[in-house]
Amino acid sequence: MGPALVVAREDLPDLVPLLQQSGYQVIAPTLRQGAIAYAPIQSFEELPAGWTMEQDAGRVRLAHRPDNMVFGHAVGAQSWKRWLRPPAQTLFTVCRENGRTHIRPNEMAPPKLALFGIRPCDLHALAALDRVFLDAAIPDAPYAAMRASTVVIAVNCGTPADTCFCTSMETGPAVARQAGLKFDLVLTELTDGAHRFMVQAGSDLGRTLLAGLKTAPATEEDEAAARVLIRTAQKSMTRRLEARTAQLVLLGDAMESRQWQAVGARCMACTNCTMVCPTCFCTSLEDGSSVDGTTAWRKRVWDSCFTQSFSYIHGGSVRATIPARYRQWMMHKLASYREQFQVQGCTGCGRCIAWCPVGIDITEVARALIAESARAEEAR
Ligand code: SF4
Ligand code: SF4
Repeated sequence: MGPALVVAREDLPDLVPLLQQSGYQVIAPTLRQGAIAYAPIQSFEELPAGWTMEQDAGRVRLAHRPDNMVFGHAVGAQSWKRWLRPPAQTLFTVCRENGRTHIRPNEMAPPKLALFGIRPCDLHALAALDRVFLDAAIPDAPYAAMRASTVVIAVNCGTPADTCFCTSMETGPAVARQAGLKFDLVLTELTDGAHRFMVQAGSDLGRTLLAGLKTAPATEEDEAAARVLIRTAQKSMTRRLEARTAQLVLLGDAMESRQWQAVGARCMACTNCTMVCPTCFCTSLEDGSSVDGTTAWRKRVWDSCFTQSFSYIHGGSVRATIPARYRQWMMHKLASYREQFQVQGCTGCGRCIAWCPVGIDITEVARALIAESARAEEAR
């Protein structure tokens, strides 16, 4: 990371036009339909300064903050995957012209995106998606094109939500420089004394952007304030998940656990958890055609392992029951994702807890599985 600099609160808005002048569409946290959600912005003033989003199991509420922090909230509704791997994407079109059939791949140039305000946990999720789609034997071309034109402005977390457990997953609350974690700038918002942002570049593009801003070298006081902020955030996180133990239990004797029936009885298979999860990436293909029969297309659309149709193969669904589908999802998140891709499938962002309509909490289910396994071990 580059040297730490400081940008005054009143000067940070200049970053948005700087990005726009370089052709980037800026996506940032905004107030949307009673929540904080990521959306395109035209100016810095659209960020939710003075707002936070209280989150608990099955509960999300907007609330005012006593201060005027710009990033005084945790992760937003939905995740950044919505922009890098859209919910519906045309892969190719087939046209019939003059008695001939032409197949046209979707060659639309992807928009240049600036992901402004991405949290450390979501940076890890981005690294996981990069691993899945870019490091595959056959990289995913639409995703690769999107990623190649993306600039990432990360923000260290000062105010985690009650649903966050990134400390357990070692994905936050501050950005750590490690293999696979890519960002251009990282900000830390400081409100002790003058409202300001400590900022460090993580790439040449980040350094170029910083050169366009009014900055000053960070003082020892700034660095100390940033450390206090992160330590306070770490201490305020009460949700825990014993990730390594959960992985061993899930890969061990959890297959027939009674917990699956218990959680399956509550789960409505609504798919919310997979839609909001930043590392879930399952899709299905849909084919369509025009009424006059001259054009057909194939689209890739988001799907979920919670639907019965997702595991349908000849003769029926492999996972016909909800307990089986929840088990599949949780196994993938906490165990087999790592086996498949050598990265974590869960970053501790807590979205699946907040946006589950019945408040199912992956950390509670993991705890129950671990306790059951320990009891079984004692009885042996
Ligand atoms: S499983 Fe839940 S907590 Fe983990 S990354 Fe997905 S949404 Fe976030
Ligand atoms: S959000 Fe909750 S109810 Fe919906 S599928 Fe996920 S665990 Fe089940």
